[in-house]
Amino acid sequence: MTAFKTLDDIGDVRGKVALVRVDLNLPMQDGAVTDDTRIRAAVPTILELADAGAKVLLLAHFGRPKGARSSTQSLSMVVGAVQSVLGREVMFVPEIAGDIVAQAVGILPEGGIAILENTRFWPGEEKNDPELVKAIAANADLYVNDAFSAAHRAHATTEGLAHVLPAYAGRSMQAELEALGKALDHPEKPVAAVVGGAKVSSKLDVLKHLVSKVDHLIIGGGMANTFLAANGVDVGKSLCEHDLTDTALEILANAEKSGCTVHLPYDVVVSKEFAANPPSLRICNVHEVADDEMILDVGPAAVEALADVLKTCRTLVWNGPMGAFETEPFDAATVALARTAAALTREGSLVSVAGGGDTVAALNHAGVAGDFTYISTAGGAFLEWMEGKELPGVTALRK
Ligand code: ADP
Ligand code: MG
Repeated sequence: MTAFKTLDDIGDVRGKVALVRVDLNLPMQDGAVTDDTRIRAAVPTILELADAGAKVLLLAHFGRPKGARSSTQSLSMVVGAVQSVLGREVMFVPEIAGDIVAQAVGILPEGGIAILENTRFWPGEEKNDPELVKAIAANADLYVNDAFSAAHRAHATTEGLAHVLPAYAGRSMQAELEALGKALDHPEKPVAAVVGGAKVSSKLDVLKHLVSKVDHLIIGGGMANTFLAANGVDVGKSLCEHDLTDTALEILANAEKSGCTVHLPYDVVVSKEFAANPPSLRICNVHEVADDEMILDVGPAAVEALADVLKTCRTLVWNGPMGAFETEPFDAATVALARTAAALTREGSLVSVAGGGDTVAALNHAGVAGDFTYISTAGGAFLEWMEGKELPGVTALRK
């Protein structure tokens, strides 16, 4: 069914050298890895190849060294963390091409694993330089891309290598592509999208794309204020991009043309100051927001109506919290809607896919991240996919 090759198509890899692009751009503090989610995501692919007897060379970038070596951004720093998550010994190679890598391949036993240096130390990485691609490929037999989070970049190790070596999607990449495909490319209808977060401006392309794709577009968060204002609602001192009212009206008009129902809140949680449990907190109709109040969450009546919308849907994609969820009680709408989506997913009536840095944090806060069908931690690549863009790293795997 899939249009790309996976590890199921790879054949006998015993003794072969596999370049495996992974995401090791890990959060670090004082030289220690603070969250190993990205390492764990790469484990199935790495172990499957190693256990089949391949020599596994991991390729990854770290930080933004801008094409030069930087002692504070060497991938040697993550070797210990990768070893402990894998439960295997891992060799470090301070190059990505040339004789040093060739020697390392010679020493590495079948099933051995090595991490090559930060690919962004070489200017050819971000330029997708064919010479660098050729030099990296020269030491290997095949290429596996397991880094969906880097697939929106056409770099040497995310895109170029797929053209010069037999190329396969790793297990993590495969899972992400299958989940995202089910959510937006060929979803079961009706489809709902929840889009929230602070600003319309950061998600214009997402909104424009979604109105042509989904049956219900639920807009919450700060960006709902811009849409409310465009509809003539006085939003007081709420976060609002008044310069984008024309754009908001255009999106609403396009939604109507495409048969997409847009849901804006009709009651809201407001307060005069932005603080936890402020004394001025109240719930009101959107038409009753005072000049000195700001909207910080979607109201309970709207949340209940939105839950009813989700109950009629088979597929949900979600990016962006419904309110300023980091501060109590402005997490209420996000938590309630997340729990509804989680319950419907558990019952088997909804396929739910969510992504975005703050969105994942909000779903964890609601305690339901594990109940969603799929949670993407890919950040920029997830948003570009929500915008309907081709991801070069994925396209290169498809040919
Ligand atoms: P993601 O990282 O999931 O893509 P965003 O970065 O777009 O999400 O948005 C998250 C931010 O939006 C959060 O910090 C949240 O506090 C803020 N936000 C949501 N609703 C409001 C609101 N009504 N007023 C101000 N900020 C809001
Ligand atoms: Mg964010």
